[in-house]
Amino acid sequence: MVRSIAEKLQEALGQGKIFTDEFTLKDRRRDYWMLSQLDDMQGRRLPNPLCVVRPAETEDVVAVVNLCRENGSPLVPFGLGSGVCGGVKVTPQTVLLDMSAMTRTRLLDIDNLLVTFEAGVRGIDAEAIVAKNGLTIGHHPQSIELSTVGGWVATRAAGQFSTAYGCIEDMVLGLEVVLPSGDVFNTRMTPRASAGPDLKQIFLGSEGTMGVITAVTLTLRWKPEKRAMSAYYAPRMEEGLELQRFIIQSGWTPPVMRLYDASEVGRNFSDYKQGDDVLLLLIHEGPVARVDAEVAACSTLASNQGGTAAPAAVVEHWYRERNHVPSFEDLIKKGIVADTIEIAATWDRIGPIYKNVVRSLREVKGIVVASAHSSHCYRSGINLYFTFAAIPENPETMADIYKECWHRTMKETVAGGGGISHHHGIGRVRRDWLPAEIGETGMTMLKSIKKVLDPTNFMNPEVLIYG
Ligand SMILES: Cc1cc2nc3c(=O)[nH]c(=O)nc-3n(C[C@H](O)[C@H](O)[C@H](O)COP(=O)(O)OP(=O)(O)OC[C@H]3O[C@@H](n4cnc5c(N)ncnc54)[C@H](O)[C@@H]3O)c2cc1C
Repeated sequence: MVRSIAEKLQEALGQGKIFTDEFTLKDRRRDYWMLSQLDDMQGRRLPNPLCVVRPAETEDVVAVVNLCRENGSPLVPFGLGSGVCGGVKVTPQTVLLDMSAMTRTRLLDIDNLLVTFEAGVRGIDAEAIVAKNGLTIGHHPQSIELSTVGGWVATRAAGQFSTAYGCIEDMVLGLEVVLPSGDVFNTRMTPRASAGPDLKQIFLGSEGTMGVITAVTLTLRWKPEKRAMSAYYAPRMEEGLELQRFIIQSGWTPPVMRLYDASEVGRNFSDYKQGDDVLLLLIHEGPVARVDAEVAACSTLASNQGGTAAPAAVVEHWYRERNHVPSFEDLIKKGIVADTIEIAATWDRIGPIYKNVVRSLREVKGIVVASAHSSHCYRSGINLYFTFAAIPENPETMADIYKECWHRTMKETVAGGGGISHHHGIGRVRRDWLPAEIGETGMTMLKSIKKVLDPTNFMNPEVLIYG
């Protein structure tokens, strides 16, 4: 008798780890991507996977990977499904690897400021575990309650406090990864190495295509001694961006630096709106003396740049509300198609990209919002986070309008010399634009790495690279 892959998985992993009930299959068949949600809600329902597997140990993951490879079954890792680029989408043949049962803390080493979590630990739980010891990871994505530590690594995520503490790649000291061959790859616990290329980087941003991340070692920080907030108005985005450049290039690193254009000030901070001014929010953290010095220095730099002080209460308002956003489901029900698109560019290029993307988005039929803010700042440049929303007359055109807005944003970003993604990843939504980002030679290298690691392309096929 020929046994099905689900039966083989059941035999290899034992009871309670393989799920084929409708609720679980439906719940795990996609991520948060707007286009998948639109398909679902407009009657183009996405298929369920063949089964959902919840491994409890790395050995379980090895068994699943081996069986899927031998059986030719597509295998799609799933953290908590908060990805917004279509990194999780299944076929009826897919084995969905749900990491949410791998939630142990393997190590908490206070002397070396290290923690090792299994990949399925939810972000907010990870932060709570270290916080009990007066520590912080320093990684606070808006989706901290909706995402896993493994998902952060798989997407190269960025948190809201990144300007001082870095993005996820700056915090990952080590990884355990089950390769498509079934071998387990472990990096050494050293603070830095000059031992050839850093192989763990292959998995940062790999989106489930190169292996399954089963454990992540992160570096920690002591919680800051002091936190202060300050805010400034500037006449236009150009001046606001310049002010941020001066702050960071002078050596100051407020962990939170967020610049909102006039449209977003009106939408998010209406009580604090001042004409058509843009608004810069800063949070300063660290030893008392440093925080005090940074607040004073930023104030001087702001007034030198023609900025004026805004009430610090606006930053408190942002901090309180920072993780509350309307759900895509609610927007779709109201006939609104919307998304956010994050890109990055050097200081000389970001201003023109901002103008060109917003102008181009405003030409789209039915558009009601085309705006941006910056949220991650570097010595050599900054990101922008565009928001678009459209209310098409005919709801059947929502998907087309969505694609058009994305196309316009990517086109203007590439034409302006920017990078197509700052932190959400490629998934399916940016796949066609990856060659423009890394070039044909880069694509050949990436495809070659994929071919060596996963010659039969069973690990999250169609994501990141295809063809
Ligand atoms: C409201 C909201 C706010 C957000 N805010 C932010 C933000 O501030 N910063 C930010 O960076 N992102 C943000 N995101 C995007 C998203 O939360 C991140 O991409 C997050 O890192 C995804 O984690 P996840 O565990 O939910 O992964 P999933 O969505 O489950 O998976 C994402 C991708 O990674 C792969 N994957 C997941 N786990 C593993 C694993 N263990 N091994 C190998 N591959 C794996 C999947 O196959 C998929 O391709 C936001 C999303 C939402 C909905």
